[in-house]
Amino acid sequence: MERSDNMKNKNIKDLIALVLLIFFIIGVHSVYKTKLVSSNDQKKVDNKSNVKFDKKNQTNIKKVSPVKDREFTGNNLKYNSESIPILYYHSIDYEKGNELRVPKGKFREQMKYLKDNGYTTLTLNELYNFLAYNKPVPNKSVVITLDDGYKDNYENAFPVLKEFGFKATVFMITSSINNEKDFLTSSELKQMDSYGMDIESHTVNHDKLDRLTYDKQIQTLKDSKEFLEKLLNKKIKYIAYPYGKWNESAIKALKTEGYSMAFTTAGGWANKDQGIYTLHRVYVSEKYGMNEFKRRLTNSNYENTNK
Ligand SMILES: [Zn+2]
Repeated sequence: MERSDNMKNKNIKDLIALVLLIFFIIGVHSVYKTKLVSSNDQKKVDNKSNVKFDKKNQTNIKKVSPVKDREFTGNNLKYNSESIPILYYHSIDYEKGNELRVPKGKFREQMKYLKDNGYTTLTLNELYNFLAYNKPVPNKSVVITLDDGYKDNYENAFPVLKEFGFKATVFMITSSINNEKDFLTSSELKQMDSYGMDIESHTVNHDKLDRLTYDKQIQTLKDSKEFLEKLLNKKIKYIAYPYGKWNESAIKALKTEGYSMAFTTAGGWANKDQGIYTLHRVYVSEKYGMNEFKRRLTNSNYENTNK
């Protein structure tokens, strides 16, 4: 009898342990599921807002862009009858005698100036909406772009941009990714992208587009776009011409491949009259002191004015 009671007790204990185990498994599973669902929901929400944006732009964006487009309201706004300075940099590092490379300290000083003086750094989507759809932007708007995709963009520029909460775009030479030590890797690009930096095309091999046949133009535009789209899981829509070189055939190829805006190296502020595929930019050289930087930043026709 005693033995049987013990058996009974043991059986009950086993049963309780089993029930507890089942509850535990169900619990863990549902917590995990909730997490999955909520992150999916977030994606759905993002997708929705992006689809809305798609329709407006009549482009075919399928993937989520990590950069949220802001709608600017209130005072001190400007419309697309006016211009916007688009700064363009390359390497953010020091090299003696190379004016294309702006040292980190100098870059930070310039970014701090933008912050201290109340500038808004626009994303390329925001710039596009301004130029193509006359969506207003703050009077003190600026676009920051970096050409080629140097590793120091991640090591030097990115921390500074994060420090000030700024948006910027890197135009990436896709054949250099994971291939050349001085250029960004796919992991670095992904980190920058997920923070909200915009990665866009600079062709596959830094191609002089005006020297290529139409077919070759199509090829480099298509391949660089597809590479980045696959890597970053977003739609690539913008490009900076290597060496600022373009021709009518290149613009036709851009349109065919689904690019909606392109940047040259012609000096000056950008406006809609230049054409959405031939926008001007403001060069920033290592040689410039803060006065020249400010002059270019605050003077929409700085090229025609004396220093
Ligand atoms: Zn370049």
